[in-house]
Amino acid sequence: MKLFDVYPLFPIEPVKAQGSWLWDKEGKKYLDLYGGHAVISIGHSHPHYVDELKKQLDKIGFYSNSVQNSLQENLSEKLGKISGYTDYQLFLCNSGAEANENALKLASFVTGRKKIIAFKKSFHGRTSGAVAATDNPKIVAPFNAGHSIEFLPLNDAEASSQAISSDVAAVIIEGIQGVGGIQLPDSTFLQLIAKKCKEVGALLILDEVQSGYGRTGKFFAHQFSGIKPDLITVAKGMGNGFPVGGVLIAPEIKPWSGMLGTTFGGNYLACVASLAVLEVIEKEKLMANAEALGNYWMEKLREFKAITQVRGKGLMIGFDLPEEFVGLRKNLLTTHRIFTGEAKPNTVRLLPSLALKKEEADLLLNALTTELN
Ligand code: PLP
Repeated sequence: MKLFDVYPLFPIEPVKAQGSWLWDKEGKKYLDLYGGHAVISIGHSHPHYVDELKKQLDKIGFYSNSVQNSLQENLSEKLGKISGYTDYQLFLCNSGAEANENALKLASFVTGRKKIIAFKKSFHGRTSGAVAATDNPKIVAPFNAGHSIEFLPLNDAEASSQAISSDVAAVIIEGIQGVGGIQLPDSTFLQLIAKKCKEVGALLILDEVQSGYGRTGKFFAHQFSGIKPDLITVAKGMGNGFPVGGVLIAPEIKPWSGMLGTTFGGNYLACVASLAVLEVIEKEKLMANAEALGNYWMEKLREFKAITQVRGKGLMIGFDLPEEFVGLRKNLLTTHRIFTGEAKPNTVRLLPSLALKKEEADLLLNALTTELN
């Protein structure tokens, strides 16, 4: 059987990794400033993370959500404390798209409405239709795939004020748009949509799949604006490579048996991986590191004349280049052995491990000095 050929691949096969570094089959060493789409939060193969997963595998690898699993409770308690959302409830699933599906479904259940407001250039995942094709009225109603979605311009207060009305089930917005090119919602804009949602009884869903887990220097990007969403979705950095996602759910939203469900969500290994990530973030003060190194990088990046704009918070950074430097990302990889990300048409995205060191950050600046001057 052949692989379904949907990914454009770099001709590089990493076989070993440590911290911010990758080694390929031929032993060539690469600096990883992308972390596989913001997934590597505490660094590759962190010893505490590896130990915890090995220990758990020796005990029990999997059962199901039909039995008690105190690791899920340990995780929700720790996540509540570190994020400041101690009074919220946690539903565990396996990916960012699934977290958003569950959040949208909850919004439909709670409000009985179907209209969703999202924003231009947003990215929330790639699922569609599984619930609609499920023949179980308890799970499906009132949710179905017949949602109507309206896309509004980000940061357009007037458009949002008009559109968020009493037929809206949910407004879904990224803490910082990632795939859309590191676009930041203004604090005043977030405050406005939070207020409008309250007024009309719609739920506010903050997608922190890419921007969460300490990446911006706060646990969640929206915490810079002081709002409290009804639902917060997480994945990517949560498991440092172990597939796991979750929805943080406001205390007013009451669960009923069978309301949500999943086979793999909250399994032992996912919980242990996620707990280890939180322990390392806390012990190694990685949020403070993300803030300090992010500020340092952005200040230095702004000194390059060729760079037209730098946007971001903490270690979620995008910088724009004019047409003539379209090959920069490829040159960084082939000449300097540095992995970065992109957003079309001309943004380079930096999403390294939150344990990045200053000397590693400087390697990018040195490479840019060679490439852009
Ligand atoms: N939400 C955001 C903001 C994302 O950036 C992504 C993935 O890039 C997703 C959701 C989907 O996550 P997953 O690929 O884990 O389904």
